[in-house]
Amino acid sequence: MTKHERAQVVASHGRHYVAQTEAGNRLACVTRGKKENPAVGDWITIETVARGQGTMVDISARSNLLYRSDAFRTKLLAANLTQVCIVVATEPSFSAELLERALVAAEALLIPVLIVLNKIDLKAFLTHAQARLDPYRTLGYLRYEVSVKGDPEKCREILLPALAHHTSLFMGQSGMGKSSLLNLLVPNALAATREISEALQTGKHTTTDARLYELPDGSGQIIDTPGFQEFGLAHLSPGQVERAFPELRAYLGQCRFYNCTHLVEPGCAVRRALKDGAISPARYDLFSALTREARGGTTR
Ligand code: GDP
Ligand code: ZN
Repeated sequence: MTKHERAQVVASHGRHYVAQTEAGNRLACVTRGKKENPAVGDWITIETVARGQGTMVDISARSNLLYRSDAFRTKLLAANLTQVCIVVATEPSFSAELLERALVAAEALLIPVLIVLNKIDLKAFLTHAQARLDPYRTLGYLRYEVSVKGDPEKCREILLPALAHHTSLFMGQSGMGKSSLLNLLVPNALAATREISEALQTGKHTTTDARLYELPDGSGQIIDTPGFQEFGLAHLSPGQVERAFPELRAYLGQCRFYNCTHLVEPGCAVRRALKDGAISPARYDLFSALTREARGGTTR
């Protein structure tokens, strides 16, 4: 008799997954046939085929699914997130464009975002980094300032309450200190990573797409993603792009044309706000670039 069990995907590597059952057992899984791929964070039904191995037969309905895309394909990042935590550092300096693209991806799905500024011990770079981040605070994004290496205890004190009761996606460019932060918050992360690699039967240096970790006291989950240098948003619809800019909300529905793209039309409330200085030119440029991308690059 086959046995069906519910489990959560904790790591993925191509079409191979590791899923953790409600009883805490980890199984190496594959999808059957041409089924849709699950993402880390997904709850799935698995059929146990052998000791430690299973086949996914179904993906449960998810509350959200975060993607990023490039010109050729979309990449699943994670599912069932309750918040996104973007890690930046004072030094090396972070890319504002990558940060904003990550903000847009989360906001388009209405997932709350925390910005973590790490390495505040590097005082010479602190003021500049804070100034670069201030506009996002004005937009309503929470910011936490920590030093993972300089004051680990304080860092835990600040971040653990913010991560409790959440499934948080950790994103960041490489070099920001994201691995250091993960290892601080999840002291057995390295061992868990090794165990997952064994289950996936990949070498220990294989980077997986994402991995889910439990906070030690079971108070929450962290999904870690590999650092990336690009964050394509070609999968967003024009409507999603529009909703992903909180500062635009007050003007939506006030343009002369109900289907205004806010790019070229006369009587556009968004562009009037831009002219009046209520919307930042850099943010409008990103909005306009993403809207053109979402419309297939045709709108001029
Ligand atoms: P990742 O690429 O984002 O995973 O970053 P790592 O965790 O590998 O850290 C990159 C470098 O930054 C390493 O040399 C860390 O020791 C260093 N680092 C991490 N956190 C801090 C911090 O709070 N202060 C300082 N000065 N260096 C840090
Ligand atoms: Zn408009």
